[in-house]
Amino acid sequence: MRTSQTTRAWVAEGTELCHKAVAGLDEASYSAPSSLPGWTRKHVVAHLAANARALSNLMHWAHTGKPTAMYSSPEQRLADIESGARLPASWLTSWFEGSAQLLTYAMAALTEEQWRAPVVTAQGRTVPASEVPWMRTREVMVHAVDLDTGIRFADLPEEFLAELRHDIVGKRGSDTVPTVRGSSADITAYLAGRPYTGVTTGDGSPAEPLTPWL
Ligand code: ZN
Repeated sequence: MRTSQTTRAWVAEGTELCHKAVAGLDEASYSAPSSLPGWTRKHVVAHLAANARALSNLMHWAHTGKPTAMYSSPEQRLADIESGARLPASWLTSWFEGSAQLLTYAMAALTEEQWRAPVVTAQGRTVPASEVPWMRTREVMVHAVDLDTGIRFADLPEEFLAELRHDIVGKRGSDTVPTVRGSSADITAYLAGRPYTGVTTGDGSPAEPLTPWL
């Protein structure tokens, strides 16, 4: 089981991976497609920046007891990603880093009791505030791969991959996911609806891709 310390270390690690992924990109490669359909790398980074701000809202909620939604509406969420994706590379990177830093500060400000406070996610799930670092970990780790600058699932911490598989199978429903064989990294990519190789079902035939996730 993950601890809150491990998870917050993963947030920092995933943030650093994303930072490294975009650090050397010029304007053209930053605006090139990511591995997510319809999204450039800039869209992914704008989504991550907006996500940090949204999760900071949940930290604020837990800290003050004042309900603060992640996003004002689904439309506004998409509009912010679109406008963020039009920013010059250095501005976008600054937004990503600043929002990640603010989220780190907001997480550091919570007391034990406030970590247990219930908050509501954009999907309408009520969760304890302590779920937020894990929500952020998933975003920065998986989207670091989606940025398609060379980071692979195999580069992510093994313990994180195990937690992610557990989380995804729980959300997809264990009866809808076939039992498959392959490397730990490839099975995780398969479950996440990302590109994978060498994943087979019980009879040795290639596993059919699942629908995208996250
Ligand atoms: Zn995402």
